[in-house]
Amino acid sequence: MKDHLPDRLDLYAAAEAGRVIRGRIPLASLTRVIPLTSSVASELEVILEFGRDQEGTRYLTGSIRGMLELQCQRCLESMDYPLNVKFRLGLVQNPDDVQYLTDRFEPLIVAAEPALLAEVISDEVLLALPIAPLHEGMVNCREVTADYHASADAQRDNPFAVLEQLKQKQ
Ligand SMILES: [Zn+2]
Repeated sequence: MKDHLPDRLDLYAAAEAGRVIRGRIPLASLTRVIPLTSSVASELEVILEFGRDQEGTRYLTGSIRGMLELQCQRCLESMDYPLNVKFRLGLVQNPDDVQYLTDRFEPLIVAAEPALLAEVISDEVLLALPIAPLHEGMVNCREVTADYHASADAQRDNPFAVLEQLKQKQ
């Protein structure tokens, strides 16, 4: 798992050959993912398994794992997000061929060969990311902690407010 993935790969040839490729890809090379992350220092571990099934569909299955730093949409602090994507893609050469794919595969339209692996991987990572990432639990999220203290303060103030109302009635 120490090698970097190749930048480009002929996907159809890899499917014909039944290749299995394991390697790492730096987050910094996934240009469409970068705007969503607070740090691009890490690398993702990728497994790509190519093949051809009984119906003749060339496919690419595999997984992408790693830790991303996303911005919590509640407190705007960064949060670690463990990424673990599994995918099953059927290779098609143009959008019209998507209808021939069985529903066991999501379509991967191969517009040009050799394909840029960073683009294929970016698509899968973007599909897997939450639209609005949030810290889990009150301990980690600053906003929830602040809300909790604010509501505790409000409850403490409440008896005085009631007293104030009683005074005004007298
Ligand atoms: Zn948060």
